[in-house]
Amino acid sequence: MNILIVHAHPEPASFTSAMKNAAVADFTAAGHSVVVSDLYAMGFNPVASAADFGTRGNADYLNYALEQRGNGDAGTLAPDIATELAKLLAADLVIFSFPLYWFSVPAILKGWIDRVLVSGKTYGGRRIYDQGGLKGKRALLALTTGGRDYMLSEGGIHGDIEDILKPVLQGTLAYTGMTVLPSFVGFHVPYLKQEERAAILENFRGHLARLDQLQPLSFPKLGDFDAQMKPLAK
Ligand code: FAD
Repeated sequence: MNILIVHAHPEPASFTSAMKNAAVADFTAAGHSVVVSDLYAMGFNPVASAADFGTRGNADYLNYALEQRGNGDAGTLAPDIATELAKLLAADLVIFSFPLYWFSVPAILKGWIDRVLVSGKTYGGRRIYDQGGLKGKRALLALTTGGRDYMLSEGGIHGDIEDILKPVLQGTLAYTGMTVLPSFVGFHVPYLKQEERAAILENFRGHLARLDQLQPLSFPKLGDFDAQMKPLAK
């Protein structure tokens, strides 16, 4: 299996980076091909702009998604986008590795999503959800938090972590057609004892070893909606 790990932590010795390193080691030992996009180490540019396009369908007014389509078809996307898109399209499994920042992904990872999930290549028109351009690929979030598990659970002060991450889980991964596996969350990691963190790392390895047994999350299916995407009467 081809695995892409998109890693977004500024500190190579961080616990999140240790999780990423464990994933690389275990998947490689199991015979899989692993590619890592270490966004901070790469100095990845997260800012979507006109500079992302070698040609312009409309030079006077920037419609980013339309230019993504035209430049994606013409092979004139900026080289860093083209490189990341090729890694994504070659992957069977994509793991996003990051610390939770403000109930979301770090800005550098949000920018990777904005720029690399190219309209036309990964989604477009009715090519969304179970018809999305990345259909057949599996995706997994592997994240760490400062908050405790009960704070980020249903009924907890912040609510359930998978509700918090809906913009990524549904609005990005499921939307582009990926099969979304249950996230692995290392809660409260900066405040734990070393041995408690070591236990989280082992649990993460177990989660990765059991990927094939995990029940994917459930998302809308296009067949339940009409041409205007209104729900069909049941
Ligand atoms: P680190 O601080 O890097 O690591 C913790 C400890 O683990 C360190 O002592 C490190 O040496 C040690 N360690 C490294 N490797 C290992 C290993 N192999 N085994 C054992 N220990 C090891 N949290 C929330 O809950 N909700 C939020 O909305 C939120 N927003 C944030 C926004 C910002 C801008 C920032 C900076 C933080 C935010 N946080 C939030 C907190 C953040 O999510 C956590 O601080 C982060 O997830 C902790 O993970 P880390 O990898 O950075 O830990």
